[in-house]
Amino acid sequence: MPKGRTFTAKLAHEISTEGKVICPNCNTEIRMVKLIRARQSKAESWMPKYEFIRMCKCNETDVLSGKV
Ligand SMILES: [Zn+2]
Repeated sequence: MPKGRTFTAKLAHEISTEGKVICPNCNTEIRMVKLIRARQSKAESWMPKYEFIRMCKCNETDVLSGKV
C-alpha cells in the first residue's frame, strides 16, 4: 500500500498546477526570478542587492535586458 500511495502522490504532484501563477495578460506562467543588482553604499563600495521578482512574457524582455 505505501508503494501505491507514493506513486499516486508523485503523479498528483506532476499534474498539479498548485503553486503556479498564470498571468492573466499573457497567459504565461509567472516565474520567480532572482536578480542581482549593484547598489552603492555609503562607504563608496558596491554592494550586491538580491531581489526576487515575478517574470512572465509581459516583462520577460525587460528583465532579461536589465531594464527592470
Ligand atoms: Zn504576463
